[in-house]
Amino acid sequence: MTMTGRLFVISGPSGAGKSTIIKALRERIGNLAYSISHTTRKPRQDESDGVHYHFMDKETFEKMIVRDEFVEWARVYDDLYGTSFSSLDRQLASGVDILMDIDGQGAGNIREHYEDSVLIFILPPSLEVLERRLKERGTDSADIIRKRMAKAQKEIAQCTWYDYIIVNEDLAAAINEAHAVMLSDRCRVFRRMGAVRRRFPDVFP
Ligand code: 5GP
Repeated sequence: MTMTGRLFVISGPSGAGKSTIIKALRERIGNLAYSISHTTRKPRQDESDGVHYHFMDKETFEKMIVRDEFVEWARVYDDLYGTSFSSLDRQLASGVDILMDIDGQGAGNIREHYEDSVLIFILPPSLEVLERRLKERGTDSADIIRKRMAKAQKEIAQCTWYDYIIVNEDLAAAINEAHAVMLSDRCRVFRRMGAVRRRFPDVFP
């Protein structure tokens, strides 16, 4: 299969601002699809099936694991999350770039299967700010926030092997940086040569 699209993976601890940044990128950048993960987590109030996630029960998810249908999957807190080969390959083959929101473990698996993926890590300005944001968000219990903070420290340690790091201190600046990373990747010579050949057939017969 000829893969013409590119995978952009965005990771970062819960509360770092990933969802807001991803939403802004999707509004600004064309030809960009969002990879929709499968999860056993219950939908939150503003979430719908097939849009934010493919919500499913544990039994169905486990059957997909046994059939090797996931590029990557992970247990996050008490739920399972995963990305299927079929949905990714179908989207990439159609030529669109895909934006993915996955954790460090998942990002490692993506890099293994799709070598030329672009990995971007979103950092909060500090652990203190992260904790404050999680509390202000008001969607998680104190117990979940404690778990998220413990996990955040482990996740932050992984930022070193990503391709790009964005510190989300000022949201507008963070969005601009993520935007710049994605646009510059699209200008890479090997991504542009198809269009260049079409424009200059005399130069590149
Ligand atoms: P949430 O429940 O807040 O939507 O997501 C919890 C965590 O699961 C986030 O850190 C998110 O990045 C991660 N996650 C979401 N989808 C996937 C996926 O398909 N694979 C993996 N490995 N992690 C995911």
